[in-house]
Amino acid sequence: MNILVINAGSSSLKYQLLNPDTGVLLAKGLCERIGIDGKFTYKPQVDGKKKLDAIDVAMPTHSEAIQAVLNALVDKDNGVIASMKEIDAVGHRVVHGGEAFNKSVLITDEVMKAVEDCIPLAPLHNPANITGIKACQKVMPGVPMVAVFDTAFHQTMPAKAYTYALPYEYYENDKVRRYGFHGTSHKYVAGRAAAMLGKKPEDLKLISCHLGNGSSVTAIDGGKSVDTSMGFTPLAGLPMGTRSGDLDAGILQYLMNKYKMNIDDMLNVLNKKSGVLGVSGVSSDFRDLENAGKEGNDRAALSVDMFNYGVKKLIGSYAAAMGGVDAIIFTAGVGENSKSQRMAIASGLEFMGVKMDEKANDTRGEEAVISAADSKVKVLLIPTNEELMIAKDTASLVK
Ligand code: ADP
Repeated sequence: MNILVINAGSSSLKYQLLNPDTGVLLAKGLCERIGIDGKFTYKPQVDGKKKLDAIDVAMPTHSEAIQAVLNALVDKDNGVIASMKEIDAVGHRVVHGGEAFNKSVLITDEVMKAVEDCIPLAPLHNPANITGIKACQKVMPGVPMVAVFDTAFHQTMPAKAYTYALPYEYYENDKVRRYGFHGTSHKYVAGRAAAMLGKKPEDLKLISCHLGNGSSVTAIDGGKSVDTSMGFTPLAGLPMGTRSGDLDAGILQYLMNKYKMNIDDMLNVLNKKSGVLGVSGVSSDFRDLENAGKEGNDRAALSVDMFNYGVKKLIGSYAAAMGGVDAIIFTAGVGENSKSQRMAIASGLEFMGVKMDEKANDTRGEEAVISAADSKVKVLLIPTNEELMIAKDTASLVK
């Protein structure tokens, strides 16, 4: 079985063709500058097939982009499948499913309507996801399509975790609540953690730290998300590459008055100019910050310290929320690659049974237990694979 996984943005589209049972990747790539001119990248994972690197392909709309993907996949010389018939289904990443979706679903007209209803909750992302789905439906009629939501995994959170302390009618009438994001990643690594530990997900209390450009931490009790650090939008929680994370809402009024900013200006600062970039003034990339810190840049070092401290506090609070923790998971760009940040975050937690192993932690990009053999709480490095999770969900719905 082969599943085409699509992650559509407003002017870009990422794709992967993979086997959901074996996890074997056949090809992946990227369409960029859709609606502008069109750049197409194709990376077949089969020996002897040639890749295409940002070549010019006219893409006035997402439909031409999908067509370019299909043409490449079935190409006589460099394709990886003989015909489109070998694509059994398409799995689409959809950012926001609101309260309507607590799991992945087969796409029907009714589902499309519900995804459209979620546009106000994710005005930048959902329209692009919808465009991607419609383009696929046009170019691949009759092929089953599945929507996999970033928010769905967190729909199991109890009301005490998702309700904001605002007048209740803002929840009832306007759906203002914590939704959480990165759900596909948290779900994937939680499943892998259970497999690595040889336990059933139902028997585990996990804290999953997805630390990348965007970061979130999730408490997973018995296989279910019970709390997560992102909120109504992905601006909440930890300081991120360029996002502020949580802050005192009173700051907004103070700065907006002082600098004559309107709310759009303010949100631009909070989304694009804050986080570790804002504090360091150097970069949003943790590699740059680590290097700058080593060269004596105090603000770069401070920004990384703040980030690590934020993750550590979430681990403590989620352990308290669940009444314990069996394993802490590190994933995504920083979590998978930065041994120094993993160490900074997980050290000092010996009081709650976390004991790191310096040597085991000296690794990257591969599943590993990085805690000491006698650590009560296991610490795991698990590379995330959202595309594989999307492919697996898609396969299970169309089988
Ligand atoms: P996104 O949220 O965009 O998917 P990723 O999960 O790919 O982000 O993470 C990207 C971030 O990972 C980069 O901005 C970089 O800061 C960080 N990163 C990647 N490699 C390393 C490394 N070796 N050490 C520290 N940070 C790293």
